[in-house]
Amino acid sequence: MNLWGYLFGSKRKDGAPLPQIFFTDTLSGKKEIFVSQRPGLVLMYTCGPTMYGPAHIGNLRPYMLSDTAVRALTEAGYQVRRVINITDFGHLVTDGDSGEDKMTKGLRREKLALTMENMRTMAEKYTMVFIDDLAALNIDVEHISFPRASDYVSEQIAFIKTLEQKGYAYRTKDGVYYDTSRFIGYGKLGGIALESQQEGARMKAYSEKRNPADFVLWKPDPRLGWESPWGRGFPGWHIECSTMSRSLLGQELDIHMGGEDLIAIHHNNEIAQSEAISGRTFVHYWMHNAFLTMGGEKASKSVGNVVYLSDVKEKGFHPLALRYFFLQAHYRTPLSFSWDALAAAASALERLWKLSSEVAEEAGRTSAPSEARDQFLAAVRDDLATPQALGILWDSLKSDEYAPEEKWGLLEDAEAHFGLCLLNPPVTKARALAELPADIRELVARREKARTSKDFEEADRLRKELGDRGYHVEDSPDGPVIKSL
Ligand SMILES: [Zn+2]
Repeated sequence: MNLWGYLFGSKRKDGAPLPQIFFTDTLSGKKEIFVSQRPGLVLMYTCGPTMYGPAHIGNLRPYMLSDTAVRALTEAGYQVRRVINITDFGHLVTDGDSGEDKMTKGLRREKLALTMENMRTMAEKYTMVFIDDLAALNIDVEHISFPRASDYVSEQIAFIKTLEQKGYAYRTKDGVYYDTSRFIGYGKLGGIALESQQEGARMKAYSEKRNPADFVLWKPDPRLGWESPWGRGFPGWHIECSTMSRSLLGQELDIHMGGEDLIAIHHNNEIAQSEAISGRTFVHYWMHNAFLTMGGEKASKSVGNVVYLSDVKEKGFHPLALRYFFLQAHYRTPLSFSWDALAAAASALERLWKLSSEVAEEAGRTSAPSEARDQFLAAVRDDLATPQALGILWDSLKSDEYAPEEKWGLLEDAEAHFGLCLLNPPVTKARALAELPADIRELVARREKARTSKDFEEADRLRKELGDRGYHVEDSPDGPVIKSL
């Protein structure tokens, strides 16, 4: 914990202290009060995917976690600077230094030759799919940096050179390796005993390694890659996160996130690289999400149980149904996906949208404070307890104890934290004019009159008024089409 922040606290712009937020830190294994290094500013890094194909929905869970944390922090008054790295070239070794490289596999699947250009083109294609998927889940991609690893190769080379100068790296005929025995406390994250890492194929594959846990920093390749002091080749996979987080956020991060599968090797290696260079704490809070399984099984292409966001949409589900599905579980709890579970989430979300439209009408979109809002905020600030917060939302909306204005206020808080389009639910069904309430019919008629007399300002104003009432107008050659839930 940062002592300065602890002693003096952080203040909002209006001078009020920032509310307390708790996160579970994987390093300490405990739920801790969050204190940023600099008052009011949070530096957040989330490990991004390797762009050899679209991301399976389980692989989208880390970005739901970071988005939920960002919303809680932003609502509490923090500014958050966010980075998600894009791995856009192969390393000719896998993350665990054994087996086949993902990018090579992707190129073979797409029947493309193994060239740098093809790698970059394929990576860009899937990067766009990835960013579109995040946007469809209502994740604010406009305020996230997505640095490409290939744009930071000279920085990665410089990083490896410094590690070499400081005595943390050694050369073998297989490349440059990090000497884990030189880093005191290697493997401290997640309580991973060094002995447990000594098993496996890694030692056999690279017999020149000094220690079984040592990992590659530079992999030579005479055919491809970049020129370096160690010949042509590729940076190792782990070095890109240490390098890009340092380049974009500095040497100490407030929060570093990722899936729990990254704890044992990747994140321990990031710590070893970054702290060897800076001599400072690399990350103040490590946060990891549990896996999404497919009906209890690991998602795998060979089993045929892999699901993409495009499948979700093709089956007629709104992408926000998946967002609701994720929010129903705490991020540290394994989540089991099935189409039935998604259908249940979708119908719950639709009921929520209906309720919200009714409250909007009753409260005239005016909000009031309530005990429910305090309880809701306490839940999301308690290590992002989204299932509890959802429970509070449902109970309060269904209860007669709260006035419509209090319910609307709660919906405003819920929307800010959940991003489920609760205040302006998406409208999907075209309605016949005759079935609309009289006042809505009148608004439609007035807008049509304004539009035909070319008073577009008035027409836009009326369109907005209809939108606020939950009705969406589309103009067609046959006249206006009105849609609502
Ligand atoms: Zn990483």
